[in-house]
Amino acid sequence: MAISVNNKVTPSSIRRPAVAMLGGTFDPIHHGHLRLALELRDRLGFDQVRLLPCAQPVHRESPGCSALQRLEMVELAVGDESGLWVDDREVRADRPSYSFATLQSLRAELGDSASLTLVMGTDAFLHLDSWHRWQELLQLCHILVVVRPGWHLPEQHRMKHWLEQHRIEQVQQLKQQPAGSVLLQQLASLEISATAIRQQIGAGQSPRFLLPDVVWSHIRQQGLYLSPASDYANSN
Ligand code: ATP
Repeated sequence: MAISVNNKVTPSSIRRPAVAMLGGTFDPIHHGHLRLALELRDRLGFDQVRLLPCAQPVHRESPGCSALQRLEMVELAVGDESGLWVDDREVRADRPSYSFATLQSLRAELGDSASLTLVMGTDAFLHLDSWHRWQELLQLCHILVVVRPGWHLPEQHRMKHWLEQHRIEQVQQLKQQPAGSVLLQQLASLEISATAIRQQIGAGQSPRFLLPDVVWSHIRQQGLYLSPASDYANSN
């Protein structure tokens, strides 16, 4: 049966739609992000994986690349891949938003019954308690923390008790409720970082095969991420 994520009234006999939100700077988007999105769709069975570029963070510089340009690259990379959605709400808002506000807006759009999961890495999770209204996040969504094999929260960590209160073990449990749980999940991770890609381009090296060709072509056409010393974009 087709699953609608806009239908606010989902009869209990119908499986509730499961939506994953993968936020990030995507500066630029690369195969690490895209493989993660596909694992969320295929291995974990999310109906929708929303890639949501953030607006330009005030504290972070990006050489020659605006939020709209990052959004454009995410759109090019995702193309018409089924189940992957590009969510432009933060970029269009044109100012950095708290994740809480973004999730409120997404929840309003999806309705109360959809299962909504915020995906993050361990670095973000370790500092979750510095986020705006972080303790209310679980009223809006679940949290899925992507972990490396053998990772566990240090015994004395201040998030330990909170994690134990909300932790579940199976992804199926995420899909049975709209919000409220935390899952630590191991997923294949490619050793690719956007920072390294930007550095390579700036140093005149090719990042090809770390990101989709369509994105790399776009970067060259637009002259993104070039340091003044590099003329790589013009020579390839
Ligand atoms: P930077 O190197 O600039 O920090 P990044 O690629 O690590 O960039 P984001 O663009 O903000 O960071 O990442 C968005 C999301 O994708 C985050 O949840 C991050 O943990 C995850 N992610 C980033 N790189 C990878 C990767 N290689 N494999 C799997 N997940 C990744």
